[in-house]
Amino acid sequence: MNNTRNMKTSTLIKRFAPYFKKYSKILILDLFCASLTTICEMVLPLMVRFITNKGMNDLQSLTLELIFTIGALYLVLRIIDTAAYYYMANIGHMMGAYIETDMRTDLFAHLQKLPYSYYDNTKVGQIMARITSDLFDITEFAHHCPEEFFIAALKIVVSFIILSSINLPLTLIIFSIVPIMFVSLRYFNRKMRRAFKASRHQIGELNSQVEDSLLGVRVVKSFANEEIEEEKFEQGNGDFLHIKKDMYRYMAGFHSTTRLFDGIMYITVVVAGAIFMLHGKINPADLMAYLLYVSTLLTTIRRIVEFTEQFQRGMTGIERFLEIMDTPVDIADSPDAQEMGDVVGDIQFEHVDFRYEDNKDNVLSNIHLHVKPGDNVALVGPSGGGKTTLCNLIPRFYDVTAGRILIDGKDIRDFSLHSLRSKIGVVQQEVYLFSGSVYDNIEYGKPGATKEEIVQAAKLAGAHEFILNLPEGYHSYVGERGVKLSGGQKQRISIARVFLKNPPILILDEATSALDNESERIVQQSLEKLAHGRTTFTIAHRLTTIRNAATILVLTENGIEEQGTHDELLAKQGVYFHLYNMSDLGNNK
Ligand code: ADP
Ligand code: MG
Repeated sequence: MNNTRNMKTSTLIKRFAPYFKKYSKILILDLFCASLTTICEMVLPLMVRFITNKGMNDLQSLTLELIFTIGALYLVLRIIDTAAYYYMANIGHMMGAYIETDMRTDLFAHLQKLPYSYYDNTKVGQIMARITSDLFDITEFAHHCPEEFFIAALKIVVSFIILSSINLPLTLIIFSIVPIMFVSLRYFNRKMRRAFKASRHQIGELNSQVEDSLLGVRVVKSFANEEIEEEKFEQGNGDFLHIKKDMYRYMAGFHSTTRLFDGIMYITVVVAGAIFMLHGKINPADLMAYLLYVSTLLTTIRRIVEFTEQFQRGMTGIERFLEIMDTPVDIADSPDAQEMGDVVGDIQFEHVDFRYEDNKDNVLSNIHLHVKPGDNVALVGPSGGGKTTLCNLIPRFYDVTAGRILIDGKDIRDFSLHSLRSKIGVVQQEVYLFSGSVYDNIEYGKPGATKEEIVQAAKLAGAHEFILNLPEGYHSYVGERGVKLSGGQKQRISIARVFLKNPPILILDEATSALDNESERIVQQSLEKLAHGRTTFTIAHRLTTIRNAATILVLTENGIEEQGTHDELLAKQGVYFHLYNMSDLGNNK
């Protein structure tokens, strides 16, 4: 996954802004409430100054009536403040949650569209981290960023105006410290942001490692490699600790520097203020109000500092979000893509080359092939010869790098992906059953199919009998904590899916390789039934199962080495002849 790019903050914000747009009304109200709370807060020092001034210079005018009026006014302000705060904390946060939901929907949709090649190079754990913790950071940022920034700016401006109306020179001295404070803090800021990013990446790594090790727990145990797994994990976990060490060092630097500047500010106000008082330039009531405002100012700066952390985390989250969103969906519908309509199943490869993105050499070169409708083509050849790759080009899991593939005479890139893939059924060695019932898993082949259709498909796949024998029949749950199915049973469910889908074109990629002899025999029968009347590409590990194929292709690193019927190829006494005699069943024929 691309972790090298570092996007500019302004770019990140610009890219993120559209998510805000939809909720701009909430945002405006949120900012309005933020200004109300700020104003209510800023009134207190003025009130204290007013009363202290009266107390020192004009005690007679400080009547009970005046005191209660001031008290009542302040109470009203605090009630407004409470309501405004409630809105900010509730609706403001919800705005963040809405944005998070929108982003997560977009992210998931994009992940669904990304091609095989993306998943070849990406760890699922990294993606999981992005969908959960990164997006949460973005929400927090989305809600707090405009609000905090607005409040801080407002407080700084208002306190500057009030402070300079009390005493301009002292105010200028105080405010000249602020930029120095910011500059020193920026150093830690940058370091912190880098550390946050590294930490996020490492969480993803750990997730991947845990997932890998747990999914492969049976392999781990069979090799008694628990200790090696522990060591690997310890290393990743240790790296994480190391990153955290950096992170906390910079965070600590950040906060202690803030405190240092707090001290400097207070000392300046007290010493400079006392000198001004000595020269009669400021009275004690003013100095008191002054101190209260400076304390507000410092709290504000501290909040900015804290918020900067949140901001950095949010930026990191956005950057990681955009990394996925910016990954191009390079296999997509062309602008004038057509629906496929009825398909006869005539397939041509015209001078097809294919190379995997990060490989130097072509896996397939100049493949030229014509398969007639309903024919069964078998692909044989050494492992790594490119059989799976060739088949993956037909549903456009990958796109050819040169040449073209035609179905019924038309380039497959001219069809919509959805309609193309709806015409092709794939049965692979590895069966994936989703969490849910057996019924749901078969229905996946044709969402919305009737019960009759599903039972019919299961019967054709030779799965009906064993499904009825499951504890809850078709409604037995598969997946974690569900019924345990044998490899052959799973494969028959996956074949039922394809029967239900009823595609005119079929790809069988070593569909029986993982099965024992008995299951293989049963599944093989189902597959033969499935292949009947469909254009079929069969990759088989047992050469006996493909003897009746219309054409057998022998695929090696040199491309299509031989091509013909079983008898033709045997007569040729070439690669196929050799492979056939080597294969176990070949010898038993
Ligand atoms: P076969 O199915 O005949 O065993 P494959 O089509 O799986 O062969 O592989 C053909 C070649 O392509 C092999 O050298 C393999 O290493 C390479 N290959 C397969 N999948 C990928 C991939 N996702 N990325 C890069 N190289 C791949
Ligand atoms: Mg293969």
